[in-house]
Amino acid sequence: MAWEWSHTDQAYAAAESNLRDLSRAELLTILREWAHRDRVDGNILRVRLGAKRPGGFRLPVGMRQLATDTLADIVWERASELSTCTSGGYYAYVCPYGCHMVSFDRADDSAEDY
Ligand SMILES: [Zn+2]
Repeated sequence: MAWEWSHTDQAYAAAESNLRDLSRAELLTILREWAHRDRVDGNILRVRLGAKRPGGFRLPVGMRQLATDTLADIVWERASELSTCTSGGYYAYVCPYGCHMVSFDRADDSAEDY
């Protein structure tokens, strides 16, 4: 079950910082999912179910040339519009399908170094 965002400014800042720590490749993967969602919502093209890599996941033209910071800006803007998180509110969804998320807690990330 997903919850709606209802966090402190500090938690949003932590989530945004965690998002900006993601690799460029991961940001591009997330943006492919947003592009897919936009196409499904807009009925721009029908998703070929079962296809290994549906055309619907193509990046919008020109997006690959954008700076990594700009890619992160776009993902954060989309995530903020979605404002959905895991139940309990620990992780913010940064893609439309809930398979990519970042913690609202900045301390969580440093724990990964252990
Ligand atoms: Zn995802």
